[in-house]
Amino acid sequence: MYDVHSKHAEDFINHQEILDTLAYADENCHNTALMEALIQKAALRKGLSHREASLLLACQDPQLNEKIFRLAQQIKKDFYGNRIVLFAPLYLSNYCVNGCTYCPYHLKNKTIRRKKLTQEEIRREVIALQDMGHKRLALEAGEDPVHNTMDYYLESIETIYSIRHKNGAIRRANINIAATTTDNYRLLKEAGIGTYILFQETYHKESYLKLHPAGPKHDYDYHTEAMDRAMEGGVDDVGIGVLFGLDKYRYEFAGLLMHAEHLEAAFGVGPHTISVPRLRDADDIDSSSFKNGIDDATFEKIVACIRISVPYTGMIVSTRESKDVRQRVLQLGISQISGGSKTSVGGYYQPETDEDNSKQFDINDDRTLDEVVHWLMEMDYIPSFCTACYREGRTGDRFMSLCKSGQIQNCCHPNALMTLQEYLMDYASPSTRALGEAIIDREVANVPNLKARSVVLENLRLIRDNNRRDFRF
Ligand code: SF4
Ligand code: SF4
Repeated sequence: MYDVHSKHAEDFINHQEILDTLAYADENCHNTALMEALIQKAALRKGLSHREASLLLACQDPQLNEKIFRLAQQIKKDFYGNRIVLFAPLYLSNYCVNGCTYCPYHLKNKTIRRKKLTQEEIRREVIALQDMGHKRLALEAGEDPVHNTMDYYLESIETIYSIRHKNGAIRRANINIAATTTDNYRLLKEAGIGTYILFQETYHKESYLKLHPAGPKHDYDYHTEAMDRAMEGGVDDVGIGVLFGLDKYRYEFAGLLMHAEHLEAAFGVGPHTISVPRLRDADDIDSSSFKNGIDDATFEKIVACIRISVPYTGMIVSTRESKDVRQRVLQLGISQISGGSKTSVGGYYQPETDEDNSKQFDINDDRTLDEVVHWLMEMDYIPSFCTACYREGRTGDRFMSLCKSGQIQNCCHPNALMTLQEYLMDYASPSTRALGEAIIDREVANVPNLKARSVVLENLRLIRDNNRRDFRF
């Protein structure tokens, strides 16, 4: 039985409810009046249910779709302004005991080079990342109880936060590791992680069991209930996502929103972020052998429909997507992107050759961080290196209530300008710096509160003239 409050995977991601949702969407997807009403409801910026959103996703009418895209763009602007937060993945280890059929880190892959960073190697990676200008990382690792222990993660997090190199610092380390126990989530929280990220891969249980034939990840329920345990362990910022291409996208979309609704119902706070990765080629993985791939137009529609359904939830795309696709989905709802990423273990300090391969997937956007920052600013976005909320204790429901009231904007905008100024001073190329200075000068005038504006101006001066860093609202 579908029960949004239940802590059991089969209740809150109820298969029959998803089938009924898809049938409802099929039956009503030509009902223009209903569709119009739902678009109007979404325009109230209070979100949509998984059924309502699934109906809009099924809409084939070009005019209605145009309205959905326009609304997504408007909501994106209203909630996130023109800021884009930047981060980078840091691969700690690709040892893995699981059998995921879409990931080259699966246990049976003998061609990939297995690596696990030592603390000294982590230092080198972090310094390389700091030298690019990154402040926010997503730590990545396979699941291996021998190599990738909780003690290893905790030690690594401590190492990462401890490194000070020139003006560099990692101010927020999110982590994407296998589903674990409530006690371990508590340890991660105490170690100072930002968001705990875990992709469901697919919500379709039957497919999930086939795609994960071996290893602890085979346990669908344990995996699906991971965010509940994370919340119970005190991790109140969680990031969910599916890997589009594994199962039918409409099923995944409904499941994703049901998961978000469940977290909101059970814990009073929905997911902090939603990621929308698409399946990619990698070492021994041929993505064309999976039959559920989605084209760019469908991908954009998914992003737009998520944006209007959960306006308060950050949305992430990685360098799995090309520059062109990233450009389009930034308008439709994406609020965070990675830049200058390496998806190999140790690849920032020592770029890999094709023969010496430890990467998780092929990148479609291999520009440097400086190029990405420059490109964003050419499109009038403000690249932001802000990590303030987590460091000010604005997490979980506290964060969400500020988002819902719109007050968070009073922090995001000034923080974006100040962290961009730091980036320009410490890491930018001359042309990026010139472009950025002009944008900052222009955007300071958009800090509405006069007192806050004068504080920002003074802080910008201190960053430029006095080499001061790390101001935040
Ligand atoms: Fe291991 Fe994760 Fe890759 Fe699966 S997706 S093989 S769990 S690293
Ligand atoms: Fe994100 Fe908070 Fe910074 Fe806004 S102020 S960009 S919500 S960390």
